[in-house]
Amino acid sequence: MARYTEARCRLCRREGVKLYLKGDRCYTPKCAVGRRAFPPGQQGPSRRKVTEYGLQLREKQKVRRIYGVLEAQFRNYFRKAERQPGVTGENLLRLLERRFDNVVYRLGLGASRMEARQLIRHGHFAINGRKVDIPSYLVKVGDVITIRERSKSLPRIRENMERAAENTAPAWLEYDSEQAVGRVVALPDREHIDIPVQEQLVVELYSR
Ligand code: SF4
Repeated sequence: MARYTEARCRLCRREGVKLYLKGDRCYTPKCAVGRRAFPPGQQGPSRRKVTEYGLQLREKQKVRRIYGVLEAQFRNYFRKAERQPGVTGENLLRLLERRFDNVVYRLGLGASRMEARQLIRHGHFAINGRKVDIPSYLVKVGDVITIRERSKSLPRIRENMERAAENTAPAWLEYDSEQAVGRVVALPDREHIDIPVQEQLVVELYSR
């Protein structure tokens, strides 16, 4: 299993924005972006001029890090997005947004995408009544996401169920807190994807 080994807060500081990689800590004053608002390894803000290529590269890294996807996999998403009708950058974000780990996070059933991924891998969730332990699974309209019965008593899962009950899911998802059931009611539109990226720069980078 490939994964990031770099400290997660360093990734946010590198990109200069909150990527929300650490769950609840990201919403507290302990967040490193607020406390040390310059890239890791520097004593303060850089005065170097950023090239067009540099801007495109940073934007691609930002998207990749938000969704926790490695380079080769990210490139595959891009190729797939290119083949779809419509705007490639938006297609790319829509594909990433449909990943199962992102959906669990968006429903509030994981404090971060990383936690959601771990819980999925441990087999705590089902889609349409069948266990799915593949974080990259792409959800479809009509999919029903449930927590497996035997997992519901686990403290971490119970905590996340409480979070999900208070969470506001994006318009393309629904969550029934009584039943602890999530539903995919539509495919995400760009306006529903609240991440601070200019996806066109990613398209420009891969079109060089
Ligand atoms: Fe990023 Fe969260 Fe760390 Fe803040 S606390 S720097 S948002 S991972």
